[in-house]
Amino acid sequence: MPDFVKQREHMVKVHLAQRGIRDPHVLKAMRKVPRERFVSEGLEEFTYEDSALPIEEEQTISQPYIVAAMIEAAEVQPGDHVLEVGAGSGYAAAVMGQIAQSVVAIERHPALGKLAAARIAALGYDNVEIRIGDGSAGAPDDAPFDAILVAAAGPDVPPTLKQQLKVGGHLVIPVGELGDQKLCKVSRTAQDRFEEANLGAVRFVPLIGGEGWREDGSRAA
Ligand code: SAM
Repeated sequence: MPDFVKQREHMVKVHLAQRGIRDPHVLKAMRKVPRERFVSEGLEEFTYEDSALPIEEEQTISQPYIVAAMIEAAEVQPGDHVLEVGAGSGYAAAVMGQIAQSVVAIERHPALGKLAAARIAALGYDNVEIRIGDGSAGAPDDAPFDAILVAAAGPDVPPTLKQQLKVGGHLVIPVGELGDQKLCKVSRTAQDRFEEANLGAVRFVPLIGGEGWREDGSRAA
């Protein structure tokens, strides 16, 4: 049995802190959540390599550095109410649940959502709720959110998600076609004012939904 605690410490030190992740809440949360419980069976030995790994439904669990960088960029704080679109394995939602007061995470593949919910329940993380559906429409009943993270790349920033941000809140989302994506940070600075920053090139699976792409790769909206 590999020493996952030691490997996790190494990940935080070498792959996160030494690469510029500074937020103590993020580092503490990444030190705590057992990523080995979120990777697919048979791939546990690769858990703490700094790479994305395949999960069910031809999707991926994101690279630890990207998870940390997105949560840091979204400025997730204790007490926050957070939305994640693209729950996948449930790992990033679990990490955010260690910082925020509550996390709603939406996944479009029912099989993935069920697995993620079971993993989160088994770890006793009762402030993280996994829902099945099209997260490009957000979660209107639970809005507004202090932070929104989107773990799949849309053609644009979904207007509905922007409207579900609190004033002072931040939305972090990859935008663009495969091979030409950038990570965007949208901050709501006033009721009708948004500021956008480009955080650099990234590579994500597509956001499929009403305010994302169609399954055939064309724009839905
Ligand atoms: N955050 C995840 C984790 O920690 O494992 C990684 C997510 S993976 C990179 C992106 C996920 O977004 C996939 O599981 C995919 O099915 C999901 N997805 C794509 N479009 C979606 C949508 N419109 N609503 C909800 N989930 C979506």
